[in-house]
Amino acid sequence: MIPRQFFEHRPNLRCYCQWCAQRGERKGFYKLRDGPVDWFFCNDAHALEWLEYRHKTPGINAVLKLTPDDRRVVLGGRTIEEYVSVQLSQQGVGHAHPGDGERADGLRDVDRVEVSVQEDAQLPPETLFLGGGRGGGAGGV
Ligand SMILES: [Zn+2]
Repeated sequence: MIPRQFFEHRPNLRCYCQWCAQRGERKGFYKLRDGPVDWFFCNDAHALEWLEYRHKTPGINAVLKLTPDDRRVVLGGRTIEEYVSVQLSQQGVGHAHPGDGERADGLRDVDRVEVSVQEDAQLPPETLFLGGGRGGGAGGV
């Protein structure tokens, strides 16, 4: 049923940490599902750092998408933590308010999730409210 090519094109079991670029075997890595993509990390702490900083600045975002080899060239011997702290401090100097735009962008995904949950949670009580004695105010809209 499944074409043999499917198996031949499967990625091997080696991967690298999306945060610190350390290589290893997938089975020993922490896997984080983000939509259709699986990201791999040394451990959950690196996954959390990645989640926190990947949208902080365009520069950090770009570096985190690089392969370990390309990243080593960009970082020039620094760790990702050092690179991030430099990027954040530079951004703090450049902007009067600390990264409002980036923060809003980073939270967009989270907001969408929260809204869908809240709508579901709020519908029943709201419906009850309108059906109750206060229905007379509906003409206000
Ligand atoms: Zn790592």
